Amino acid sequence: MKAISYQGKVSVAVVDIPVPQPARDKVLIKVTYAGICGSDLSIVAGKHPRATPPLVMGHEFSGVIADMPPETFSDLKIGDRVTVYPLLSCGQCYVCKMGLAHVCQDLKLIGIDTDGAFAEYVLAAEDAVIRIPDELSDEEGALVEPLAVCIHAAHMSRLQVGDSVVVTGAGPIGLLMAMVARASGAAKVIVTEVAPSRIDVARELGLTVLNAADENLVEQVSELTKGRGGDVVFEATGHPSVAPYLLKLVRIRGQIVQVGIFKGPVPIDLRALNFHEVDLIGSRVYTLEDFDRAIGLAAEGQVDLKPMITTVLPLDEGVNGFRIAQNATSLKVVFEAPAGH
Ligand SMILES: [Zn+2]
Ligand SMILES: [Zn+2]
Repeated sequence: MKAISYQGKVSVAVVDIPVPQPARDKVLIKVTYAGICGSDLSIVAGKHPRATPPLVMGHEFSGVIADMPPETFSDLKIGDRVTVYPLLSCGQCYVCKMGLAHVCQDLKLIGIDTDGAFAEYVLAAEDAVIRIPDELSDEEGALVEPLAVCIHAAHMSRLQVGDSVVVTGAGPIGLLMAMVARASGAAKVIVTEVAPSRIDVARELGLTVLNAADENLVEQVSELTKGRGGDVVFEATGHPSVAPYLLKLVRIRGQIVQVGIFKGPVPIDLRALNFHEVDLIGSRVYTLEDFDRAIGLAAEGQVDLKPMITTVLPLDEGVNGFRIAQNATSLKVVFEAPAGH
């Protein structure tokens, strides 16, 4: 089968590899769509701490069940349209035993630590396979994972109805975060972004957008929030240029939720954290419940996933797809696996 593989040394290639053999406890899924995530970009940049080549990337995807284990315990059937909860937790560590498997001390992911969905077929454990309801298309099914990231961050926050929210970054996570904040009852959602095309999309979604390159960005946020700053700031860029002013966007006693992942340590004014009694919290991936909530929110039309997809390419165009995704003018680049077989 065709697959897009990380080859190490900052390179990605379209390769021909055998279809994975269904193991006793695994479901074989014929991939339909799989999206490129920021973490796939760090893998290809050689900056991911765990990924080792050769690796078929891809952890945000939809597909159709092609084969089931001989002894099944679920009501899943061959032909079902599904998405997959891609976390691989050890189940043995203290955190897993506490019921917090999504922050497992040895957390792994399909498509980062094992072969993933930038391929015609992928394997997944039966309890990680989730049916996509009729209300969601296959393309939207591939975006359940990033939506779950944002739902998890919203649940980690103490966002309340009527709050003012600031989201830094209008990439796929920033935009989905903004829409989740809006669906959660935020009165005002302000998004900061530098890329003109992403600013346009954010405007079309009805969000208040500020150009993060403006030198008076902090004053503009202050003006829009009656001089207070955001009640909750969701940081969704992971870009070092945001760190120096992050604490200036949040109100006294407000909260910063770190959603984007920085590639290294960044300077942040922790004195302002004291003086303003700000809470700074981290948010990592999602629970299985967040996945379920993501499907529910999208299926009910509370968050529209379609505008997130800006590019759809066949697997053959793997190299080109990564080139497009590296360019901040695009949002989600999604690979379409060939139909049939
Ligand atoms: Zn992802
Ligand atoms: Zn664990």
